[in-house]
Amino acid sequence: MRAMVLEKKSQCLQQVDISIPQPSDRQVLLRVQACAVCRTDLHVIDGELTTPKLPLVPGHEIVGTVERAGTTVTRFKIGDRVGVPWLGWTCGECFYCRNGQENLCDQAKFTGYTLDGGYAEYTVVDEGFCFPIPNLYSAAEAAPLLCAGLIGYRSLVKTGSAKRLGIYGFGAAAHIVAQVAGYQQREVFAFTRPGDVEGQKFALGLGAVWAGDSNELPPRQLDGAIIFAPVGGLVPLALKAVGKGGVVVCGGIHMSDIPSFPYAILWEERSLCSVANLTRRDGEEFMALAPKVPVRTKVETFPLAEANKALDRLRAGKIEGAAVLVTDSSAA
Ligand SMILES: [Zn+2]
Ligand SMILES: [Zn+2]
Repeated sequence: MRAMVLEKKSQCLQQVDISIPQPSDRQVLLRVQACAVCRTDLHVIDGELTTPKLPLVPGHEIVGTVERAGTTVTRFKIGDRVGVPWLGWTCGECFYCRNGQENLCDQAKFTGYTLDGGYAEYTVVDEGFCFPIPNLYSAAEAAPLLCAGLIGYRSLVKTGSAKRLGIYGFGAAAHIVAQVAGYQQREVFAFTRPGDVEGQKFALGLGAVWAGDSNELPPRQLDGAIIFAPVGGLVPLALKAVGKGGVVVCGGIHMSDIPSFPYAILWEERSLCSVANLTRRDGEEFMALAPKVPVRTKVETFPLAEANKALDRLRAGKIEGAAVLVTDSSAA
């Protein structure tokens, strides 16, 4: 099968021909239809996340159909369409797994990082960590739900009942969260790279009540904010934008250093937290919610062989919505 492989950190992906993996007892072999491209893939390829398996097939927002099932598989049958997220395996036994925080499992394995992912024609995945895909979506439309959507949803939940919600970095996750927030009667204030007029228009088109540059203060004080851009300098800006008791959630897996800031902008019970990974419960909740909103994803598709081009466009901030690799032309 064809796969796009990271052989060494900080290099382009190489197109290689490798043998189709065999599913173990609990695994299914998926024929990949589409795999979205996440900023985390850039952090893995660029070496900011330091412990990938190598060589690695990246990609953790996979939609595919079951081609073969291991001997103990019960949830899915041949031909079923399933989605695969970042959380690929947990131990089920550690303190975190036993306390509803499997996202923090000490031994967790991650798709497209410590397990091979979906930048390929086939992949094997543990059936326990996959989700059925709502019928509303094509494979390419559904792929960004599996990380941008799920992590975005987990970040949104962490803002509690914040009515006026700031979103810093209006990419794949934000364009989904903005729709969910609107459905929940929240008001979205979108912050983009300074001068990104196109990005601001995109946010307003998705229901944001205001859009502006990330170095500006919004016209009204916010109740909460989510930072999706991997830019530490946004943390003090977001803390200044939220009122007393406001929460600032960092939704990314990697961020540049946060500059020092005066205690006064954290005081009055503002809080700052991060989101790490996802639980299967997040996935089930979000996949049930997405078609009700209904969340509509905006995707730019690329053939599998053009993965490097998709990554370059994402790095340059040129993707509106989400980039998706399609391995099966009927998936778009
Ligand atoms: Zn565990
Ligand atoms: Zn991701």
